[in-house]
Amino acid sequence: MAPVLKTADELEIMRQAGRIVAIAHEEMRRAIKPGVATKLLDTIALTVLRDNGAEPCFLGYAPGDHPPFPATITASVNNELVHGIPSEKRVLQEGDVIGIDVACFFQGYVGDAAFTHPVGEISRSAQRLLKATETALEAAIQASVLGNRISDVAKATAKCAGRLGYSVAREYTGHGVGREMHEEPQVPNWWHSKRSKHQWTDYDLQVGMTYAIEPMLIAGRSDLVEQDDGWTVVTKDGSLTAHFEHTVAITEDGPRILTLP
Ligand code: MG
Repeated sequence: MAPVLKTADELEIMRQAGRIVAIAHEEMRRAIKPGVATKLLDTIALTVLRDNGAEPCFLGYAPGDHPPFPATITASVNNELVHGIPSEKRVLQEGDVIGIDVACFFQGYVGDAAFTHPVGEISRSAQRLLKATETALEAAIQASVLGNRISDVAKATAKCAGRLGYSVAREYTGHGVGREMHEEPQVPNWWHSKRSKHQWTDYDLQVGMTYAIEPMLIAGRSDLVEQDDGWTVVTKDGSLTAHFEHTVAITEDGPRILTLP
């Protein structure tokens, strides 16, 4: 199935959906500090979404054999890469890093973005990882121009991560965004060789393509394992991870970030 191209009117609604997600990010960033339970951040996000006429995409989401996701945000701390479940019992500690992903439906369209944030003072190595992941996202956004293909976007992420000394999550990818939270194309953070187990479909970038780019960088090895809760993905070696994400549109004038406040 080819990527669904969006009209200017559709992009405008998606920008509004993205803006609501970005406002939720800002509110949560303000609340992140030692002693705060991840459940509080979830409540903040849900309130922002509903106050702005949006609904959470993740709440009740149950793809494949996953149990329904019970929250608005995914909150993934330290070695948790993605899909952490917010909880009253998960209390942030000084020196943690927390990755938060939020997606919302607004007037039939999706906005999807994620960020990773320090809790109090964090180590120099954790600061470097966060910075590197943002830099990789920026590189992939810059590669999202006409004349390039999805593989160029993926390679931009991989190259940046490699240059800065990090591995990328191989099994998890960015994705087309529109009326659905997950559309074509998949936007991986690396590109396969002929012999890889993963084989992504490559597409020429076209005006009106909209996708979420989401580098997930890992300080150690890229082997991952899913926890017994059916969702939380952690690094096998316990190493630190970071995740940043924007939804972007391909335009004549270059990439347009749809998830800004
Ligand atoms: Mg997301």
